[in-house]
Amino acid sequence: MKIAEGLYMLKLGVTMSMGKTFLYPTLLVDHESIVLIDTGLEGDDQREILSRQFEENGVDFSQLNKIILTHQDFDHIGGLHGILEHSDQSIAVYFHEDERPYIEGEKELIKVKGKIMPSLIKLIMKIELIQLLEDKEVLNILGGLTVIHVPGHTPGNICLYHHKSKTLIAGDSINIMGNKLAGPNPIFTPDLEKAKDSLKKLLDFDVENIICYHGGLFNMNANHALKNLIKSL
Ligand SMILES: [Zn+2]
Repeated sequence: MKIAEGLYMLKLGVTMSMGKTFLYPTLLVDHESIVLIDTGLEGDDQREILSRQFEENGVDFSQLNKIILTHQDFDHIGGLHGILEHSDQSIAVYFHEDERPYIEGEKELIKVKGKIMPSLIKLIMKIELIQLLEDKEVLNILGGLTVIHVPGHTPGNICLYHHKSKTLIAGDSINIMGNKLAGPNPIFTPDLEKAKDSLKKLLDFDVENIICYHGGLFNMNANHALKNLIKSL
């Protein structure tokens, strides 16, 4: 689904602990970058769906050259290794510095006991670089994409804000429940108080579209709804 020029919301059908549901990764395209934000679950079928959705939006999946991970949870990073292994070109992988030991396979994922990701170093030939993100960093993608560090859901959890289209790519920091915006899911948020507090950073942004990884697009008076939600938490 096209949200704005160069900005698309994808939709992946998956089966998770709560049953069948959808995940909504984001695709950004400009003259030098084809960027996927979050990668879905692992598996060839997931990668094929991603590839098909790229094509439906007129984008060649084999030209993907950047992946941004909002955080370490497996529904966000599960597809990463498969995409890197199957790509013929190098792909830059971006994530917040506080997620590094988990995503690089040094520490077990904080919410999956005993789960250690395979080392990214093995795939280093395919990775142009691993770029560690910092709060307030502005990436030169599609005219400007700001990193917003919102710890709590995980230590290095981020949202991204696309300035031109006023789109907040919320990851798991904001969800949609029954057509309404909701905060982070308490079941999957180890430090809920910190997560709620982090959301205050979003008050600085003028938001017209919100893409929730769980829930999809929210664009009905989004700024007002977001600010009300944050004040109510
Ligand atoms: Zn998630």
